Amino acid sequence: MKVVVIGAGAAGLMCAGGLAEAGHDVVLIEKNDRVGRKLFITGKGRCNLTNACDARAFFENVVTNPKFLNSAIYGFTPSDCMQFFESLDVKLKVERGDRVFPVSDKSNDIVKALERYALKNGVQLQLNEKAEEIVVRDAVVRAVKTDKGEYLCDVAVIATGGITYPVTGSTGDGYLMAQKLGHRIVAPVAALVPLIAKGVEGLQGLSLRNVGATVFSGDKKSRSHFGEMLFTHTGVSGPIILTLSSELGKICGKNTILPKGSYLSVDLKPALDLQTLDARIQREISAAPKATVKTMLYTMMPKSLAPKVLESCGIQEDTKASAVTKKQRELLAATVKDLRFPLIGKEKADLGIITQGGVDVAQINPKDMQSKLIKGLYFAGEVADVDAYTGGFNLQIAFSTAKAVVRSLSS
Ligand SMILES: Cc1cc2nc3c(=O)[nH]c(=O)nc-3n(C[C@H](O)[C@H](O)[C@H](O)COP(=O)(O)OP(=O)(O)OC[C@H]3O[C@@H](n4cnc5c(N)ncnc54)[C@H](O)[C@@H]3O)c2cc1C
Repeated sequence: MKVVVIGAGAAGLMCAGGLAEAGHDVVLIEKNDRVGRKLFITGKGRCNLTNACDARAFFENVVTNPKFLNSAIYGFTPSDCMQFFESLDVKLKVERGDRVFPVSDKSNDIVKALERYALKNGVQLQLNEKAEEIVVRDAVVRAVKTDKGEYLCDVAVIATGGITYPVTGSTGDGYLMAQKLGHRIVAPVAALVPLIAKGVEGLQGLSLRNVGATVFSGDKKSRSHFGEMLFTHTGVSGPIILTLSSELGKICGKNTILPKGSYLSVDLKPALDLQTLDARIQREISAAPKATVKTMLYTMMPKSLAPKVLESCGIQEDTKASAVTKKQRELLAATVKDLRFPLIGKEKADLGIITQGGVDVAQINPKDMQSKLIKGLYFAGEVADVDAYTGGFNLQIAFSTAKAVVRSLSS
């Protein structure tokens, strides 16, 4: 069959290479001057390409439409993905949290391996060319029009990604092409995105480990997440904050601004209950009664955070530890477990790692990723309304959905 794959990102490269390997005549259209620009910046340049977890854990990490992904993920599992890249001579390693990276720590090794895989199998790669329209007659794909011409085809695969980090080429073109053909688009918003917060002055760059974070908004509360976070010049980021950002839809819907009065509560000592924490503070006071309460706190938290904690509970920094009253001590313990930062909302979409929203999966067949409206039209990767937490899950989704297309057209 004649196939046109639109977008040479993670999903498009995998899909084009696999379809060409299966004997199809494949054209891969990419509007950038090179393939895999987003893939290149993944995992801070190291590319966390999948997660070596079991299926149950995998689906727990999918935020939107996990059931839809069932057959794609079981059809091409994280372990299949690892074997695939190792068969392309990319050595892999598994790090903390089952995150999988190339041993070289170079995302370019993944990009190049996929590009070689596609070209070796005979994919015709068209760089610097933008797909503009999918030509359909009688609800069947006939051709793909680009800014340079037209490709007649039996199959078109939209693998154009989402809307975040648009400099990489993901500018939402696929949504427009799908919408024009009658598909519903669930409004795309950025997820896995830093949050804008107040009260972070002087904390920029500070990274906290083993803390808990929860968002409160009116009578709504997010789940609490535990791990690492960091302060930026506009608010908060880091793994647990990015995870929280993916769940904010339950609080603010498609809005990127949170309702007034929303705040982030940071638990600096999640392993200690209030009573144990109070006993710990009492021990610190007894050990250094003449120290100021601020210095005393240095044993319990990073130095730059102590003034913020004291300000939040209204205790003067230079108060002698021995002069701290029982009430102040209890207030201090409560603040250490519930340090609040007023939240404004999500950072702009450009900074999101993933897009929430996209082509409504109710109009896509989960077995082969074919449109239920147009014969010969397929979707692969982030363009569909699926997204997951950080940890390699999103790239695995891109690879698995691409492979679902390949399997269905190979039998
Ligand atoms: C900073 C950052 C770090 C990330 N790190 C990780 C990580 O470590 N692990 C992980 O699992 N996920 C990570 N992600 C998410 C991951 O990159 C995406 O989930 C994945 O790239 C989606 O793949 P895709 O092929 O669907 O889309 P993309 O990779 O975005 O590829 C889409 C391609 O389509 C092209 N295109 C778009 N429109 C057109 C058009 N009209 N004509 C022709 N070409 C077009 C684009 O130029 C682009 O090359 C990260 C994302 C970001 C932004």
